[in-house]
Amino acid sequence: MNFFKKLFSSSPQPQRNDFTFKVKCKRCGEEIQGRIDLVNDLSAEYEDDNEFYYSRKVLMGEKRCFQRIEVQFKFSANKTLLDKDIFGGEFI
Ligand SMILES: [Zn+2]
Repeated sequence: MNFFKKLFSSSPQPQRNDFTFKVKCKRCGEEIQGRIDLVNDLSAEYEDDNEFYYSRKVLMGEKRCFQRIEVQFKFSANKTLLDKDIFGGEFI
C-alpha cells in the first residue's frame, strides 16, 4: 500500500515566471516595486502574423500621495521585453 508515499510526496510547484520592475512616483518620489506574472498577466495580440503580449498595471504607493502610476509593457512571443511606457512616474 502506497498510502504514506502518496501522502508525503509533494506536488510539483508551478514554476513562477515573474517580471519585476521598479518605478518612482512623479509626485512624491516614492519607489514602488511592481511585478508582472508572465503567465497570467499578459494578453496576446497579433500584428502582421506576429504574436505579442501586452500587460498594463496601475501602481500606487503606500504613502498618502494617491498618485496613480500606469505602466504598460510589450513582450515578444517568447516573453522578451520589447517596449515599455509609463505615466505618472518613471522607471528606475
Ligand atoms: Zn507618490
